[in-house]
Amino acid sequence: MTHSNGANPSGIKKPALRVIPLGGLHEIGKNTCVFEYGDDIMLVDAGLAFPSDGMHGVNVVMPDTSYLKENQKRIRGMIVTHGHEDHIGGIAHHLKNFNIPVIHGPRLALAMLTGKMEEAGVMDRTILQTVAPRDVVKVGQHFSVEFIRNTHSMADSFSLAITSPVGTVIFTGDFKFDHTPVDGETFDMARLAHYGDQGVLCLFSDSTNAEVPGFCPPERSVFPCLDRHISQAEGRVIITTFASSIHRVSMILELALKNGRKVGLLGRSMLNVIAKARELGYMRAPDDLFVPIKQIRDLPDRETLLLMTGSQGEPLAALSRISRGEHPQVQVKSTDTIIFSASPIPGNTISVVNTIDRLMMQGAKVVYGKGEGIHVSGHGFQEDQKLMLALTKPKYFVPVHGEHRMLVAHSKTAQSMGIPADNILIIDNGDVVQLSPDSISKGDPVKAGIELLDASRNGIVDARVLKERQQLAEDGVITLLAVISTDGVMAAPPRVNIRGVVTTADARKLSMWAEREIGWVLENRWNQLCRNTGGKAPDVDWVGVQREVEVGLQRRLRRELQVEPLIICLVQPAPAGTPAYKGRADAEPDSRPAPRGRGGRDGGRGRDGSVPAPQRQLATVGAPAAAAAPAAAATTVAVKTPAPAELEPEPAGRTRRRRSAAAVG
Ligand SMILES: [Zn+2]
Ligand SMILES: [Zn+2]
Repeated sequence: MTHSNGANPSGIKKPALRVIPLGGLHEIGKNTCVFEYGDDIMLVDAGLAFPSDGMHGVNVVMPDTSYLKENQKRIRGMIVTHGHEDHIGGIAHHLKNFNIPVIHGPRLALAMLTGKMEEAGVMDRTILQTVAPRDVVKVGQHFSVEFIRNTHSMADSFSLAITSPVGTVIFTGDFKFDHTPVDGETFDMARLAHYGDQGVLCLFSDSTNAEVPGFCPPERSVFPCLDRHISQAEGRVIITTFASSIHRVSMILELALKNGRKVGLLGRSMLNVIAKARELGYMRAPDDLFVPIKQIRDLPDRETLLLMTGSQGEPLAALSRISRGEHPQVQVKSTDTIIFSASPIPGNTISVVNTIDRLMMQGAKVVYGKGEGIHVSGHGFQEDQKLMLALTKPKYFVPVHGEHRMLVAHSKTAQSMGIPADNILIIDNGDVVQLSPDSISKGDPVKAGIELLDASRNGIVDARVLKERQQLAEDGVITLLAVISTDGVMAAPPRVNIRGVVTTADARKLSMWAEREIGWVLENRWNQLCRNTGGKAPDVDWVGVQREVEVGLQRRLRRELQVEPLIICLVQPAPAGTPAYKGRADAEPDSRPAPRGRGGRDGGRGRDGSVPAPQRQLATVGAPAAAAAPAAAATTVAVKTPAPAELEPEPAGRTRRRRSAAAVG
């Protein structure tokens, strides 16, 4: 990487152009890029990503936008390249949090964005400006952006030429070179070449298929393959694809018409996108091609084609529900031909194959997979990427839109075409690319990360909530109720409840351990946790007491049982002077070592570790709730049924019922 002072002929140092991706790197999804020059900030796209396994209860993933919130006064506007969710899905949400004065983008993308903004109630927060090919818009004092028509799986898609005081950057957006596009809108390669001749400072290019050799086949190539399957089908044809794959959907409608089949649409996004695309003229199909789903059942199967969502095995999408027999209108028939015209996004593979299995088990013919020619990617392969490099001839190169290995592969492709390794940066979300006319370097990174939204898209699932959910899902939960008097005396045996914990330890042992932890905390921590205010009752930090017990028990479980369940301790305070619970008589010797660094831990009250028999008479006058019904709580069980020897004596029939319920559940 070279550095220079960036001085212009008048000797005044120009600031660097700063390009900061907040999403889209080391991942596929939530593409969000910040361009910064002087006091101006311009955004390019703002997408969302879908949750990965382990993100329990998370609906969508957004980039952390702290940087934009902090600098919102400098945001002059936004550019949208095309209407895919990973490029526009975050905008409506961001408009609730910071200002974007104007958004320039293609007509189709902005039409789709309008729907999302209406839903989110943010229509009045910005101005939407539609652009046409070769339009140039000015953003702030320093940026001018030309929209260059490109080809992609989405119609009305653009690459960008972004000109700033330090030079021109080509930002490819998502692209492949498709010379026979379904809608006839060809890639404006002449314009790319024009900028290549003028001199491109830096190319930011789509890396999705950087590992795949060759050219990406044209979208049209799936037409004859789909045609063959549709024309050979004896019964109904059911096709699933991404609703946003406008070209694919267009071809499917064309094939339905050609094969004399009426089309029924299922799935909200399928209905919405097709309505929008037809309204704006991106899709042509006669009105009478479509038949409402309730009436299409009256037509012969051979004249029916159902087009629906669910190509990714999403649990609530139409085809997934049909596969489970849960769809109110459509049931699988053994004569159906079901076509998956999409490939699973990494992470969705398992739910997709499960859906295929379920459909096949019901006797349907299912067409899926790479060999069938029924799907091609919307992102260029290595040769497409080379063509982009050849046309734009950039001085510097930054591979974007891809996972790390794709970025590395793309950088190798660029090097094979003569771009020196020193002129290429592989960056991560939050990294700052600093560009001057003769240097590229990384600046200090800005805050980047993820923000997880729940189903409401308003509630943020923060790291703590997520960690707790993961713990619950993976290791279960143990709740612990302790009765402690305000003068630091354990007034009743702790009650332990276990849910979803796989362990050989029974409730009895856990209860004993809990008792020791409480004893230890009272013995060793009470003075710190309790402030004598001079009045009658001391001021006890009950939350602190709970926390200490939780941490102690957590450590012991990790050490002795190698499990890390979520532990929730609740303390019920009892009045000062409540007699101490005397501990357990039938002691089980504790052979375990004392916890590290907490010597003497087990020396406190309750060391004997007796079993809290349900009938035990407690000397707890001040703790009615805890002492009243000890029967059920102390005998709760783990999901894994313990070996007979470990079973507690059954105090009530209730316990056995619960145990078997846990085993099947
Ligand atoms: Zn795209
Ligand atoms: Zn994309």
